[in-house]
Amino acid sequence: MSTKRDYYEILGVSKSATAEEIKKAYRKTAIQFHPDKNHGNKEAEEKFKEAAEAYEVLSDENKRAQYDRFGHSRSGGGGFQGHDMNMEDIFSQFGDIFGGGGGGGFDSFFGGGGRSRQRKGSNLRIKLKLNLEEISHGVEKKIKVNRLIHADGVTFKNCTTCNGQGQVRKVVNTMLGQMVSTTTCPTCNGAGQLIDKRPSGVDSSGLVSKEDLISVKIPAGVADGMQLSMSGKGNEAPGGGIPGDLLIVIEEIEDKELKRDGNNLVYDLHISFIDAALGTSVEVPSVGGKVRLKIEAGTQSGKILRLRGKGVKDINGYGSGDQLIYINVWTPKKLSADEKNKLEAFRSSPNFQPQPDHNEKGFFERMKEYFG
Ligand SMILES: [Zn+2]
Repeated sequence: MSTKRDYYEILGVSKSATAEEIKKAYRKTAIQFHPDKNHGNKEAEEKFKEAAEAYEVLSDENKRAQYDRFGHSRSGGGGFQGHDMNMEDIFSQFGDIFGGGGGGGFDSFFGGGGRSRQRKGSNLRIKLKLNLEEISHGVEKKIKVNRLIHADGVTFKNCTTCNGQGQVRKVVNTMLGQMVSTTTCPTCNGAGQLIDKRPSGVDSSGLVSKEDLISVKIPAGVADGMQLSMSGKGNEAPGGGIPGDLLIVIEEIEDKELKRDGNNLVYDLHISFIDAALGTSVEVPSVGGKVRLKIEAGTQSGKILRLRGKGVKDINGYGSGDQLIYINVWTPKKLSADEKNKLEAFRSSPNFQPQPDHNEKGFFERMKEYFG
């Protein structure tokens, strides 16, 4: 941003220039660096764009006042933020400057049809449901897609509007003199051909719907709502051109036991307070099968155990997340008379009095440690 040249300097006018002077200066600069006169000259094109941006700002009273006060945006403070203009913006501005001819259509400016649009088929979008196992390791899926493809038996004839060129030329009078403008043929939309005969069941673009079985490689670590794009696997383009894309939107099937938190998986484990006090060994679910875990004697409720690398693979290849096992010590809600008596005997035992030491971090400390 700070490398931007001063707008007044670009147009070669003083800060006190009138609107008419600015307009005149821009006209001069635009003609000088016009792409039609500077074929393939990148520097001229940049200067042309630069001048258009300067003019856009200085020709607008409000924008000019803001620019005068703050200059170009620096270090984020209320400075003026110009935007990079594309050629279409610039030419739509020309109606104002050069009069007549308005609108776009000046395709010929861009070095011999460099911008001529290649026709592209429409995109297809499908939803793909994946379970945690598939997400964790990545998966290859075969999916059925109904695509529009070119139908057999369609015959074509040349478009008479453009003589099969796909483009029509027209001469436009502008301040720069007569200029030839090339635009996409409105009759055939650029294809150069029109359908002559088509079999029944084929639409007016010569396309027919066909079921296709497409193999899709889903990388590990995708998440709900993510969209993958397979280029060229969408609908074919009417009359030729490149096919559209197949967009695959991921839908994550929620796992009943393992909750996903980014690349980590969280599992809630409930153990009895007897097991917590005496220690035990338990099986917990994980992606790809059960895992046996040792619970130490004297384990506190809220402790988190970590299975390193047992989470979801990172989609960008930065290793794998972990599986975190959150321990909940279960307190019985009902007790028989006998159980009550037995427990009552321990009530006053010093070992049953809570004595948290400083190694037993509270809830917030643990959250900070694991999810911070
Ligand atoms: Zn045509």
